[in-house]
Amino acid sequence: MIWPKKFIHIDMDAFFAAVEQRDHPEYRGKPVIVGGDPRSRSVVSTCSYEARVFGIHSAMPTAQAKRLCPQGIFVHPHFEKYSEASRTVMSILRTYTPLVEQVSMDEAYLDVTENLLKLEDPVALAGLIKQHIFAVTRLTASAGVAPNMFLAKIASDMKKPNGLTEVPPDKVLEFLKDLPVRKLPGVGPKTEAILGRMKLKTCGDLWGVEVRPLYEKLGKWGKGLYRMARGEDDREVNPHWERTQLSAEETFPRDMTEISWLRGKLAELAAHVFHDLQQEGRAGRTVVLKVKYHDFEQITRSQTLSAPPQDWQTIHEIACDLLGKKTSAGKKAIRLLGLGISGLTSKEAQPGPVQKELF
Ligand SMILES: [Mg+2]
Repeated sequence: MIWPKKFIHIDMDAFFAAVEQRDHPEYRGKPVIVGGDPRSRSVVSTCSYEARVFGIHSAMPTAQAKRLCPQGIFVHPHFEKYSEASRTVMSILRTYTPLVEQVSMDEAYLDVTENLLKLEDPVALAGLIKQHIFAVTRLTASAGVAPNMFLAKIASDMKKPNGLTEVPPDKVLEFLKDLPVRKLPGVGPKTEAILGRMKLKTCGDLWGVEVRPLYEKLGKWGKGLYRMARGEDDREVNPHWERTQLSAEETFPRDMTEISWLRGKLAELAAHVFHDLQQEGRAGRTVVLKVKYHDFEQITRSQTLSAPPQDWQTIHEIACDLLGKKTSAGKKAIRLLGLGISGLTSKEAQPGPVQKELF
């Protein structure tokens, strides 16, 4: 069979919880919930598969998780450990191809059309990568193999945990026909409801409509959906997008309005970004906040400091300030938050104090 291009999407399984279970044998086989204190207004960051059986999921208030599963093991997050595991995983991926695009701490796309092992079969390659990750980190990953990026992403989610799912080029339409639209990346409850009112429940249903009504109801995003439902995606893996900016972002399982929850998320992202800066010996003075609202409107807000932040708390404070003053957070539900430091230099090349500027 001819594969025009070969992509693998790697997604670590219940990442934070899996790291805790790896490091604490007594947690294995038990419901582990990583998040803030159940007595506070915090939420679940990640939970183990054993906890999901109780109906616990990420973004749920930790207090509610505690009610659902009083015997659960509630753990505060250890971002530095997760960050370290993440870097190990990403460096493993780069031994197979330089075309690795990291999308979050625990997720990446690989273009393996050409790969360093010169292996023709992308499924065999994905199997090797999974084994390699497990051998080094003792963590499992799920992989999706497909001729384009969004299909690879959907595929990696099909058989979690420790799954491997292939969508070969000649099975793309078969795979999409009965696939609920909700499974398409970016389709949340709201888009699902809009499509539902148009009697469009599966990708196959979308084959029967013109692009125009989708565009009218959903804007530009409608065009994207139209193409995805037909299996079309010509994006390329971009391995260099973090070069002048070090960032982390997360799309939430549902759109969020609660400010305290969003601030908690920013703390995670700030700790992650700061840790990566330190590891790479880099520094930058501009804190960049990215917000994508439920309707896919996306904005970035930034603030440049007089000197690079010296701890993650500073990054967090600035991000919260930008969120509170320069976004519609709290009024308009948010589906994605990203946080980054831009204008990176290596620490040695850091210029002296510069006058503070705001924008
Ligand atoms: Mg994951």
